[in-house]
Amino acid sequence: MDRNASPVVFDGHNDVLLRLGGPDGGGPDAFFERGERGHLDLPRAREGGFGGGFFAVWIPSPPSPEPTPECTPRGLPPALDAAYALRRTMADTAMLFRIEDRSDGKFRVVRTAAELQRCLEEEVMVAVLHLEGADAIDIDLDALQVFYRAGLRSLGLVWGRPNAFAEGVAVHFQRSPDTGPGLTEAGRELVRACNNLRIMIDVSHLNERGFWDVAALTDAPLVATHSNAYALCASTRNLTDPQLDAIAASDGMIGLNFAVNFLREDAARDANTPLEVMVRQIDYLVERVGIDRVGFGSDFDGVLISQEIGDVSGLPRLMSALRDRGYDDPALRKLAHENWIRVLRKTWGE
Ligand SMILES: [Zn+2]
Repeated sequence: MDRNASPVVFDGHNDVLLRLGGPDGGGPDAFFERGERGHLDLPRAREGGFGGGFFAVWIPSPPSPEPTPECTPRGLPPALDAAYALRRTMADTAMLFRIEDRSDGKFRVVRTAAELQRCLEEEVMVAVLHLEGADAIDIDLDALQVFYRAGLRSLGLVWGRPNAFAEGVAVHFQRSPDTGPGLTEAGRELVRACNNLRIMIDVSHLNERGFWDVAALTDAPLVATHSNAYALCASTRNLTDPQLDAIAASDGMIGLNFAVNFLREDAARDANTPLEVMVRQIDYLVERVGIDRVGFGSDFDGVLISQEIGDVSGLPRLMSALRDRGYDDPALRKLAHENWIRVLRKTWGE
């Protein structure tokens, strides 16, 4: 065994389905070709030691005839039409399954932690189906039941807009993440239903009141799939120290978001961001919540990342920066995938 080989990475968040489904995305077949655009495809993932992760279904606002779409009073995009949200969710979920169908056994949508672990060992790329916002879920939770049966194992109650269940955090710098109301009664029902079905609940886009509502209700570890420490980058998308402490107390975890504007102290959208900034965030998170509760949540194909990583094939540069910083092999394995597997095993059962 090569002692210097980086451990395989299982990652908390990517938006490749959005990119592949876009106007020039190329659809499911493009996932198997080494591309130049975007961050993630199978050949580049292999080069970067990326073994899989949460594949998000994210719904953009529909094209609007108005020059600027109407916003809510708190500056969020308006709630989505239910039929539109369901149609888009079906399309991107179907694309994930088409990738699996066409992969010749190289890509698997997993439903259990044991299956996830086995695939990582056998070098089969794994995907966890994640809905980034419950906009396609009706309040009777019929769609939740059906998507669960289809393979849904992770759900964010909201993205950055309101829906029937909660309200997403408005993105601001140097402001409090307490930007709006907490969960609705339907939102509380949804949390209970996810607990019963053992669907993981992602708190990454919730505003602060929503976060504390979930924390008070859920019986599962608290998980933020793609967020950072507010103490180092005061974006409302990041987690304050009390939130990090609650995640630690629940034995949950945080996936480091690679978005430069959620990493940097000045929150600048500047790709010229040194790896040191990512390492500093990891140091802070590990110090605050422990080495067993931090992983990656890259947001590949969803955000602007450091040019020192470039795309998924650059992951080994982050791993060696962490190694240079003093993270040893057992620590790197935890950050790379073991912590995710532990939390998913606790959340999903076996
Ligand atoms: Zn996101």
